[in-house]
Amino acid sequence: MYEKFSNILKRNTGILIRFDDVAPNMNWTMMEKCEVLLNKFNIKPVLGVIPNNQDNELMNYPIKNDFWNIIKKWQTKNWSIAMHGYTHLYDADTFKKDYFGYGGRSEFFGHSYEEQILKIKKGLKLFRDNNIEITTFFAPNHTYDLNTFKALKECGIFQVIDGYGLSTFTFNEIKFVPQLFYNLYMLPYGIQSTQIHLNSWTENDFQVFEKFIEKNHKKVINLDYALSINSNTFMKMLNILIKQTLKTIRKIH
Ligand SMILES: [Zn+2]
Repeated sequence: MYEKFSNILKRNTGILIRFDDVAPNMNWTMMEKCEVLLNKFNIKPVLGVIPNNQDNELMNYPIKNDFWNIIKKWQTKNWSIAMHGYTHLYDADTFKKDYFGYGGRSEFFGHSYEEQILKIKKGLKLFRDNNIEITTFFAPNHTYDLNTFKALKECGIFQVIDGYGLSTFTFNEIKFVPQLFYNLYMLPYGIQSTQIHLNSWTENDFQVFEKFIEKNHKKVINLDYALSINSNTFMKMLNILIKQTLKTIRKIH
């Protein structure tokens, strides 16, 4: 009985390395350092690519004109490519009414279903023009409403890296890989994802990441593994507990 339970825990433990804000304009020097580190440990991250970046903050970084070739090269190395919004421009406020209750501004929340599906379709076309099929999405600033999920499904996307929990879970026909912490943090068990914003990283941030990878590389999983997990009843119970606790904490703050 004990053996069985420990096997379940082991199978349900791992961290997915998710990079946010991958776009033609980015901190390429830092990205190259990360690539060397990931190669050293044979880690396959998931990259959140913004297909049509219009975010001025990101525009300040140097541009690579062969961006899509670089993405394709990463994909052939079995790095996973996900769609991270369409333009990364926030034009609506959620007033904490977004699906996960994070609050803050959003590219998708509050827009009509028609507007949201148009954004997703335009984004997918850019990927397709560059021979990249997208099956996974995560929204800028973690902000969704029910129309976002409806539009994603209509476009054939049934996988999202966001949400509360200690294991991959399915809701509304969509598989969610939970993303809990802003900082790098390895839970003793559970399936997790990082959110890495390397564009604003200093050398010190990189060193923290390097130490994290050196310490935890055996627990790093790829996207396919994270999606292959089906949370059992035990994990579902924990997911509900975590969701309620975090929602309460975020309401207090
Ligand atoms: Zn972002």
